[in-house]
Amino acid sequence: MATFKAMVVEKTETGTKAALADFDDANLMDGDVTVRVEYSTVNYKDGLAITGKAPVVRRFPMIAGIDFAGTVESSSHAAWKAGDKVILNGWGVGETHLGAYAGKARVKGDWLVRLPDTMSAREAMAIGTAGYTAMLSVMALERHGLSPAGGPVAVTGAAGGVGSVAVALLSKLGFSVSAVTGRAEEADYLKGLGATEIVERAALTGPVKMLAKERWAGGVDAVGSTTLANLLSMTRYGGAVAACGLAGGMDLPTSVAPFILRGVCLYGIDSVMCPLPRRQEAWKRLETGLDRPKLAAMTREIGLAEVPDAAAAIVAGQIRGRVVVKIG
Ligand code: NDP
Repeated sequence: MATFKAMVVEKTETGTKAALADFDDANLMDGDVTVRVEYSTVNYKDGLAITGKAPVVRRFPMIAGIDFAGTVESSSHAAWKAGDKVILNGWGVGETHLGAYAGKARVKGDWLVRLPDTMSAREAMAIGTAGYTAMLSVMALERHGLSPAGGPVAVTGAAGGVGSVAVALLSKLGFSVSAVTGRAEEADYLKGLGATEIVERAALTGPVKMLAKERWAGGVDAVGSTTLANLLSMTRYGGAVAACGLAGGMDLPTSVAPFILRGVCLYGIDSVMCPLPRRQEAWKRLETGLDRPKLAAMTREIGLAEVPDAAAAIVAGQIRGRVVVKIG
């Protein structure tokens, strides 16, 4: 019997409980590729799954963890062979399919993206699902036609994972970036990532006007709720906002005014079921579009046993940037 360490979520009488356990290889779920996991990460959704704060986990017991980078151990999928370096984000891994916080994962080959040549497994997970989602958001704004000449853009939840990567990506593309944060003490950090201006979170959490003064050409929103509603009402004529998060709430107390009077567009960003070609494009863009020293500056590493503490911290909004989890 071959076992490996895994962070397993079990159902209890009062809710759920996550703990490190020995997991038997034979109990992995079906899949045509087995991967030796080297790194995973702590995303906001992992925080919800580990703490049980939201019903992310749909099957018990569940190995948590929604993303990994590692090396193919065995494969019956035509695209993959032993030794290939791969990345996985989403597809229900860590929710309905046994997940990433484990020495091994067995998944569908169709879910995997090849690790870019110049990127290490650790760097890929420093980016993780949060960073890949930031890139999907930037790509949506570009498809809309936003360019640095069109005016400044805002990033909400800026000191978090999605926000930090979005600030760095947009700044490298030449945008003037307003970093919206509730943590004034992170101003230097955000300026180091490329923010041109720090905006106090409270500027977007007050009562929502149907139309406010036009301020930004667009933005990436990781917060949702009143913050997103205010961002929409402050978006300039013809602008666009990519909505990818809910750190401030699931609701959206807006009106149709920004859409029908200013032609503002709201793009929904989903990383979980995003089709493979767009994922591949996002990871290709991340290989060159994100400065590695900036990535290093936003990343800290932990071990598998420290995941529960990091999970509690991320749902409390206390994590700065990205947390990678060393597995292998
Ligand atoms: P983080 O916790 O790292 O970042 C979220 C940030 O939001 C915090 O750092 C904080 O930023 C801000 N924030 C937290 N609570 C509040 C609040 N109550 N009101 C206003 N701002 C708040 O999480 P991630 O960056 O990993 O994820 C961000 C969001 O994106 C999450 O909701 C996550 O579920 C979502 N997401 C969605 C994906 C998709 O496929 N659509 C994929 C990945 C993530 P600051 O301190 O700077 O204000």
